[in-house]
Amino acid sequence: MLPTFRKLLLVAAAIMLAACGSHGTAVDTIWTARYVVTMDPQRTVIEDGALAISGDHIVEAGPRATIDAKYTAAQRLDAGDAIITPGLINTHTHAAMSLFRGIADDLKLQEWLDKYIFPAEAKNVDREFVRWGTRLAVLEMALSGTTTYTDMYYFEDTVAEETKRAGLRGVLGETIIGMPSPDYKTPQAALAGTEAFLRTYGNDPLIVPAVAPHSIYTNSDETLVACRRLANQYQKPLLIHLSETKKENDDALSARKKTPTAALDSLGVLNGWTVAAHGVWLDDADLAILKARGTGLAHCPSSNMMLASGVAPVVKMLMLDIPVGLGTDGVAGSNNDHNMMEEMDLAAKLQKVSTGDPQALTAKEAFAMATIGGAKALRLDKLIGSIEPGKRADLIAIRLDQPNAVPLYNVYSQLVYALKGADVSDVMVNGKLIVRERKMLTLNQPEILARAEEYRKSIAAPLTRKTLASKTP
Ligand SMILES: [Zn+2]
Repeated sequence: MLPTFRKLLLVAAAIMLAACGSHGTAVDTIWTARYVVTMDPQRTVIEDGALAISGDHIVEAGPRATIDAKYTAAQRLDAGDAIITPGLINTHTHAAMSLFRGIADDLKLQEWLDKYIFPAEAKNVDREFVRWGTRLAVLEMALSGTTTYTDMYYFEDTVAEETKRAGLRGVLGETIIGMPSPDYKTPQAALAGTEAFLRTYGNDPLIVPAVAPHSIYTNSDETLVACRRLANQYQKPLLIHLSETKKENDDALSARKKTPTAALDSLGVLNGWTVAAHGVWLDDADLAILKARGTGLAHCPSSNMMLASGVAPVVKMLMLDIPVGLGTDGVAGSNNDHNMMEEMDLAAKLQKVSTGDPQALTAKEAFAMATIGGAKALRLDKLIGSIEPGKRADLIAIRLDQPNAVPLYNVYSQLVYALKGADVSDVMVNGKLIVRERKMLTLNQPEILARAEEYRKSIAAPLTRKTLASKTP
């Protein structure tokens, strides 16, 4: 080929490329990877995939060549040998308890709560504790792929502030409980505080404010009914622990002659947008009630195993089409981490071992629970939980270039049984990149880890078993 002709061809190619580019629709970001796992209704998996992202939302997902031909982007990200999936959704936790991580393990729930957690909280939890505990938790969550989390704790306005600062999405509710809490002396005061919180965050792009009565066994009927009324008045979710332990069920049955679910339902507490955590001891009649009320379930396999609470009837829930998501629960003796990659693995294996059926909960179903199922349980599935045009750009990239990631025969198998939280490389929430190559861009990791250690020193000294035992009535 003559050099001049070759030059001409190159010029022509450049002009064609420029023309293609100028005709492509402008988007903010094109993000590419070896696989895009969409979790759309068809469970589309795109090999050599790409996403076009504009502002806070996904414009389109498709093969790289298709997306490149249709769009021009201000920014290009290439995750390379990786899977892009919807961000993981943690449907139940108490984030700031991260500062109590491992403080009292290997105990029964009631003993753990009464002898260790409630006294430790009464002694240590203030606004600064919640600030640093939440920072530690959201750092850990983001670095292991969680983009949305659901929280019930204290000083929830500070939790919201820190969640927004970190750039995560949160469904957040101040714990309403029938005893003096670190920030409110009475449940009435907590309800008033919750109403102010609902007003402040009612239209926030990242925060869904919620009403969060702790449980049926820690609140009066009047408080529970008032919580429901408030949640419905503001069209926001009610978060509650439900049938977590056999004791909770036995107590309700002896005092009320009803299961906790039936008792809450007879009070009207389930009439509306509700997310119930655990549901270990739900019977068939309870499940029918939850199905009829559209209640979402937060299944917490690590917590249920560690506190020996039991095995939630997840297979039955899914057969009834009750929306089920996964939750880590708090990390102070009931997990002890905020790692959703671990929850999905355990969720699948727990159903297999408890039913004797290896097909009881498949990898694909477990991954759905961590993404679109969680979104449905929170009733946020119009916004998040899958990669579809118009949904919020809550996305993660998980590396496939590690020994535990090869060879790859099936993406769902790899995601649930082989990949780890530490394989998550990049995280985007609401169109904004908050983790890049395993570095949290919005938080100061060394400072947070150092402060957590300082808290450990001040908390650990007085919190010996002996001291606490002597304080317990
Ligand atoms: Zn909990």
